[in-house]
Amino acid sequence: MKIGVLALQGAVAEHIRSLEAAGAEAVAIKWPQQLEDVQGLVIPGGESTTIGKLMRKYDFIKAIQQFSEQGKPIFGTCAGLIVLATQIEGNQGPEEPHLALMDMKVRRNAFGRQRESFEADLSVKGIHEPIRAVFIRAPLIDQVGSHVDVICETNGEMVTARQGHLLACSFHPELTDDIRLHQYFVDMVRESMQQQG
Ligand code: GLN
Repeated sequence: MKIGVLALQGAVAEHIRSLEAAGAEAVAIKWPQQLEDVQGLVIPGGESTTIGKLMRKYDFIKAIQQFSEQGKPIFGTCAGLIVLATQIEGNQGPEEPHLALMDMKVRRNAFGRQRESFEADLSVKGIHEPIRAVFIRAPLIDQVGSHVDVICETNGEMVTARQGHLLACSFHPELTDDIRLHQYFVDMVRESMQQQG
């Protein structure tokens, strides 16, 4: 199993390390053609407007949408969650390029200045013990469609969701040694490979 990490911006090396610790082979994806060689894709955090613009510039938007149409799993973290969402609040304009794959409305920089970054232990549906989560200028999920399963909340706010083969969290699981959310994603990729034969 090989999983790609979109290498336009963000903590690419950290995601690769976490995926490998979770038992997958992981590669940095710099060109859309490389998507043909991987069975799952991680979109790291960074600045969602920058990632969106770079995805458009390097022809990733259609390529990732087609990757998703094939049922191949995608995991967006922080800014990666933002670019996966159908609706983004807090953007300068409606034309910000994004993937619009997950049926949810997200709010950028939702925690306010005094809580720009913090850590918390969170319970995730499907993971036995709480996981360690690092939030950095994190977004929140405001609304989800009926096919979206919210698998983690903190203080009543939605921070991790799954829609079939798509997974998104508003924090940075790659910045801790806790690899269980990556493990969860690796399991999703394994299941999708079994389904596709
Ligand atoms: N605040 C960033 C954005 O809006 C996301 C922050 C992050 O990925 N750590 O894109």
